[in-house]
Amino acid sequence: MGPGPRYGSGPRARTRPGETTSKGSPGRAAAPSDRDREIQALKQKVRTIEARLRHLNDRIGGVEPGFRPSELRAYVDPERCVGCGTCEEVCPLGAISVEEVARVDQNRCIGCGTCVAQCPRGAIELKSLP
Ligand code: SF4
Ligand code: SF4
Repeated sequence: MGPGPRYGSGPRARTRPGETTSKGSPGRAAAPSDRDREIQALKQKVRTIEARLRHLNDRIGGVEPGFRPSELRAYVDPERCVGCGTCEEVCPLGAISVEEVARVDQNRCIGCGTCVAQCPRGAIELKSLP
């Protein structure tokens, strides 16, 4: 098996509306590069996996009322987070959104720990549900 695509290899450049790239062109207006297309393809795979996870969780919940895959949830330390977006890209449940810093939707997080492992700043930890 050859090497697959790598997630979260480092902080990504985030261009906001109105900002320009180092080449002086608008951030998202340029023709999509191979990297952009790869990112879109990977995001589509994430959405597919998310849908499958939800379907499986629904099925398990149907036979085991009260089932939760984990009693852990991810929490972000806003003092350490630099808003790089890596966690948002790797979360299989789409539970993280990043503006200035990352925020976790506790109702979607299943405590898988992927974001914890990928965060370059060590800004995320898993904690037991209260
Ligand atoms: S929590 Fe970590 S991975 Fe997520 S945006 Fe902040 S620094 Fe990046
Ligand atoms: S622990 Fe898993 S499900 Fe929860 S926010 Fe992190 S990557 Fe997403």
